[in-house]
Amino acid sequence: MDFKTDLNYRKEVLTTLLHQVVLHEKEIINALYLDFKKPAFETVLTETSYIVTELKETIKNLKKWAKPKAVLPSILNFPSTDFIYKEPYGKVLVIAPWNYPYQLALAPLIAAVAAGNQVVLKPSELTPKTAAVLATIISKTFGPEHVEVVQGGVAVSQELLAQRWDYIFFTGSVPVGKIVAKAAAIHLTPITLELGGKNPCIVDQTAAIACAAKRIVWGKFINAGQTCIAPDYLLVQKDVYNELIKHLKEEIILAYGQNPRNSPDYARIINHKNWKRLAERIDPKKIVHGGQTDPEDNYIAPTLIAETTVDSLLMQEEIFGPILPILTYTNATDLQQIVSTYEKPLSLYVFTKNNAFARKIITSYSFGGGCINDTIIHFSNKRLPFGGVGHSGMGAYHGALSFNVFSHHKSIVKKANWLDLPMRYAPYKDKLKTI
Ligand code: NAD
Repeated sequence: MDFKTDLNYRKEVLTTLLHQVVLHEKEIINALYLDFKKPAFETVLTETSYIVTELKETIKNLKKWAKPKAVLPSILNFPSTDFIYKEPYGKVLVIAPWNYPYQLALAPLIAAVAAGNQVVLKPSELTPKTAAVLATIISKTFGPEHVEVVQGGVAVSQELLAQRWDYIFFTGSVPVGKIVAKAAAIHLTPITLELGGKNPCIVDQTAAIACAAKRIVWGKFINAGQTCIAPDYLLVQKDVYNELIKHLKEEIILAYGQNPRNSPDYARIINHKNWKRLAERIDPKKIVHGGQTDPEDNYIAPTLIAETTVDSLLMQEEIFGPILPILTYTNATDLQQIVSTYEKPLSLYVFTKNNAFARKIITSYSFGGGCINDTIIHFSNKRLPFGGVGHSGMGAYHGALSFNVFSHHKSIVKKANWLDLPMRYAPYKDKLKTI
């Protein structure tokens, strides 16, 4: 079968993939639990059901997305009909992270296959159980000449990056994103970089505080804070600081109980190295809530930190764990000073009832995407492009856009022969005066 040209084959194989992912759902839930105690509900919500929806949507729309698109011709070319053809790039490399190891591996893979590419997927080595199920699903669906999973760590990733690809889709950290960009530059390979950053979450004095606290706690502590678009730090207008802290504490207890270690709904830190990095960043003097850690279990409780400075260790880089520093601000100048300390983040959140303030925040700062009065849910609307800007990434995907990411858009003008206006042809003589 020629997956490059045969749309029916692409649909068929994606339908087989759908069958396989449904068949292996329980295994994926189990694998993610073994990898870092990811709760089953969170796996279904953020990984498996997301992929099933993405597959159904892609299968349904594949022919529409792949069809050459007629566009209005230019009057200068009259008479012509103009089209955009979608052409597969060819060989695509997808490198995935560990934090949503199933969804962030399969979503780009599905789009790359839909667009007619050959794909090599390198899942993260830090979630080996999930990577093993992914490899099984892929080998039961595709021949290795079409889609292949290559497992391994940094060395394997670097070997792959040393090869020539027609497109590289990378999701992961900023430093590794730079390595990918350098490797791609050697062959002028186009890339998408889905990276991270320090995502601010602003709460002003008009915000619906109880509701804000509930939505912040969910968006921050889902996946134990290991979410690229999780609020990294809170910026709270000083008049509502105490009220917000009170509600944040209540919401943490409501969600995970007095001892989150016993909660079936709370994941663990991915490994000891990350646990140590995070544990070292908790300053006991600044703990407002939580702070308990256990290296045996890679456990860190949902932790609130009263932060006063951007110079602390916690505020130096993306946290990527269940520690939430809370800073206060008085006015727009304070806000500006703090937010602009950092590179452009992947997301930004603002809680307010003041529409003018929300608009000002959204338009004043550059960031990948975000929400007004909620956290992380912009991810779930397939009609919204998902991606970063500046250091948080380049390129965006989701829904129909994902198909376009993996397609070269080839412009074609089909000229008619029945009329051939002489205007453009030499000798030009006095033609310059007529344009
Ligand atoms: P990572 O950059 O360490 O690893 C990602 C992938 O790159 C893995 O498959 C890994 O094997 C490979 N890799 C690691 N080091 C490498 C090297 N030196 N050379 C070549 N390949 C290498 O990222 P991670 O720890 O898996 O994920 C966490 C990061 O990813 C966070 O910064 C987070 O914000 C970001 N992230 C972004 C998104 C997004 O959609 N924008 C989603 C999830 C995670």
